[in-house]
Parts: sequence; C-alpha cells; structure tokens
Amino acid sequence: MIPVQGVTGKTVAVLGLGRSGLATVAALQAGGAQVVVWDDSPTAADKANDAGADLRDLTKSNAFDGIDTLITSPGIPHLYPEPHPAIANAMAAGVPVDNDIGLFFRSFATSDWDNFETMPKVIAVTGSNGKSTTSALIHHILEEAGRPTQLAGNIGRGVLDIDPAHDGEVIVLELSSYQTDLARALTPDVAVFTNLTPDHLDRHAGFGGYFAAKRRLLIEGGPDRAVIGVDEPEGRYLANQMSEGPDDDRVLRISSGQKLDGPGWSVFARKGFLSEYRKGRQAASIDLRGIAGLPGAHNHQNACAAYAATRALGIGPRVIEQALHSFKGLPHRSQLIAERGGVRFVNDSKATNVDSAAKALAAFDRIHWICGGLEKEGGLDALLPAPNVVKAYVIGREAAAFAMKLKGLDVEICGDMASAVARAAAEAKSGDTVLLAPAAASFDQYDSFEKRGEDFAAQVADLA
Ligand code: ADP
Repeated sequence: MIPVQGVTGKTVAVLGLGRSGLATVAALQAGGAQVVVWDDSPTAADKANDAGADLRDLTKSNAFDGIDTLITSPGIPHLYPEPHPAIANAMAAGVPVDNDIGLFFRSFATSDWDNFETMPKVIAVTGSNGKSTTSALIHHILEEAGRPTQLAGNIGRGVLDIDPAHDGEVIVLELSSYQTDLARALTPDVAVFTNLTPDHLDRHAGFGGYFAAKRRLLIEGGPDRAVIGVDEPEGRYLANQMSEGPDDDRVLRISSGQKLDGPGWSVFARKGFLSEYRKGRQAASIDLRGIAGLPGAHNHQNACAAYAATRALGIGPRVIEQALHSFKGLPHRSQLIAERGGVRFVNDSKATNVDSAAKALAAFDRIHWICGGLEKEGGLDALLPAPNVVKAYVIGREAAAFAMKLKGLDVEICGDMASAVARAAAEAKSGDTVLLAPAAASFDQYDSFEKRGEDFAAQVADLA
C-alpha cells in the first residue's frame, strides 16, 4: 500500500466503495486521515464497516461540513452528463475533488528514496484502444529486462494498493479518460498516448472533451518523455504541442502504417516490421510477424508504444525484442487459446465494438468468425466487406437480426456459443482461424465479456 501523504489530521470523504475506493480508504487511513465514506449501493453500510470508516450520506445538505477533500471513483460522473449529487455538493461547499490517481502522484515519492541508487519511475498509459495490452506489455518487457516493476490502475490493482517502490523500480499505470480528467496531480516520467477514437462521449460532452481529458496526462505534469501515436490528428497536435522542434527527442512518435524517419525519435510498424529511427537514422528493426501474442496491425501499434516507452528508459532493443516474443497476450484480446489439426482458435471477446472487431478481422486470414450479442449504436457496415472471413457464425439473443446486417457474407445463425464453436470447428480447415470477435456487448447472454470468452474457451476444450 502507498500511504497517502499530507493528510494527517485531515478529514477526507471517499465516494464509491469499489476496488479502488476501498484501497483509497485504507491508504488514507494509513496516512493518518479521518475517513468518511458514501456509496449509493444498498451494501454501503457493510462496506464502510468492513473498511473501518464512518458512513455519511454525502448527498445530504451540509454533508461536507468539516471535510477537507472529496476522493471519487472513476465510474461516478463528476461533470457530464451531470455531476453525482455528492460531487455537486462538494463543489457547492468549495471542497476540492480529486481521485486516487491524484493522491498516488502526490504520495509515491518518500524520504527512503534518498538512499536509492536509481530513482523509481512511473510510466502512465492512456488512449482509446490497446491501453491494457500496451501496459501489460511494458510491464512484461521490464520484468524480462530484470527491472523491478508493478502494474496498476485501470488494470489489475488500484494505484494506492501497490507496494512502496523499490530502488530502480518502474510502476506501469493504465489510466482511463475518467481518471486523467479529474486527477489533481499527473506527473509520470513517461506518458504514453496510444490512439484516439470516439468513446465515452456522454461522460466528456463529446469528442473534444474526451480528447481534453486524455491530453491532461501529457500536458499537466510535463513528463520527461512522451510517447504519442500520430495516426490521428489529435495525436499529431499533441506531439506538436509537446515538442520544441522536429528533432526534439523528448517526444517519441509512433505509428502503425506510416514511415516516420524525420530528425526526431520515432518507432513505427509497417508490413509486420517494427523500426526505430533516431536523428534520421534507423536504430533498430524487429520482425513482428511470427509473434503469436501480438497478432495484427493493432497489436503492432501496441508493440511500438511499449517498445518506445521502454527505450525511453534505456532498455536495449534486443532485450525488448526477446520480451515481445515471450509475451503471452492478455486474456480475451486476440488470445490464441488452442490449435487443433492446424486450426487456430482465437479469443477476442473484448472486441465489444465494431472498431476493435475490425482490427481482429484484419489480423488473421481465412476466418471462421463467431460474432453477435448486444449490438451497439452505429450498425455493422464498418466491418464489411470483411474479405478475410470465410463464414460468420452468429450468436446472441437477436442473432437473426444481427446476421441480416452482415450483407454479402456467408452466415449461419447459431444462437449460442456451443453450436457456434461446434459448427465453426467442423467447417474450418488446416490453416484457418476460428475467431471470437463479437462486435457486440455480451450482456444479452453473459454477465461480462470475460464470461463470454471463458465459455468460448470451454467449448473449444470440449471439442471431440
Ligand atoms: P483497452 O484497455 O484500451 O480497452 P485492450 O488492450 O484491452 O485495450 O484491447 C481492447 C480491444 O481493442 C481488444 O479487443 C483488441 O482487439 C482491440 N485493440 C487492442 N489494441 C488496439 C489498438 N492499438 N488499436 C485498436 N484496437 C486495439
């Protein structure tokens, strides 16, 4: 745990008692704060009791009398579509609102560091897609390079739940737009911005607000190095804002598809090869094509981001290359789960929208595609014509309606996962891929995308 600094004798309110909220309560208590808590759920009183904190309804008038700060959870709206009543109350009372990320950056460095040979560092990753994969990959590369490292934030543990840093340790944080929007301190040593496509627009009042929230990670604290995906205008704007000129190598530009060989520092992937350029010269090249844990151009973008972030810390290209090869991938994201009779079975249950499913469909040849579920807004046209798909096997409660929209594809309505896996496996030939990339949410048939992916894996394991 990271005890929160500067709160001794203060009264701090915590709103939201999920995983990160409970870790925040403990870290505040360890820092000497008096903590009061509130959560809208009926189990709030039990949770408060377990956490050893006083329950106070923060939505009531005068609830903020005597409170110094409010710490809120990322899932709770702080501004759009409208502030949660407790946050509105805090703002009316003039009480500063912050989150666990802000507390982390204020509390991470301690006096123990005076005896360290190598100062601990923080790499923070944001962006629309590939955050988890990129963060996990950076963490894996650091482990393989023999650096002490911990992974936290939107992935794995809450940020205040990690252990105090060791000499030379690197903390890798995955941060969502909700987290970067609100944090009052954001001072990573290396900030990574992977890419930007529209998401969570209701929480940010549109695309501009969403970009502004992510942009704070780079602009607020002034990182030593910024790794920025420049395949969208927002990334190009950000890279321009962060650098003093074309050869300013505090900014590492990354791309999936473009050749970036200017006078600065860049890492890009084209046709399955990663290249690093510095001062107009090629510094390294890596063949990514045979790396099973990182299939497809989207994962090559993640590889570029992770490569650049770890190069920025001085890890050598060959060490990184080896680590890319040993990366297993994250569960439910283009994850190779089995190979039978030359047919590969790939679980990308996390492809809950058309954008991420399109990336998965571009990553493999001759695909037997299991898709369907709770459809999101915007239709399915962006997935078509889907030239790599041999046939689609549609699941979900509305499978027939979903199938109708896959114009021009050979489609079979299967309804459930068991029949879809059985049919796809029966028809796939050696060299083909059976891919679960639903392009839809899971909630019509499952509690979560994870449960859907686990069902897929179980059905594959059950094949005769
Ligand atoms: P995040 O944490 O940003 O949601 P993940 O690494 O969990 O990202 O990947 C989520 C989904 O997006 C996966 O289904 C994957 O196929 C797809 N994806 C991963 N990396 C990228 C990328 N760089 N660009 C576009 N889509 C991606």
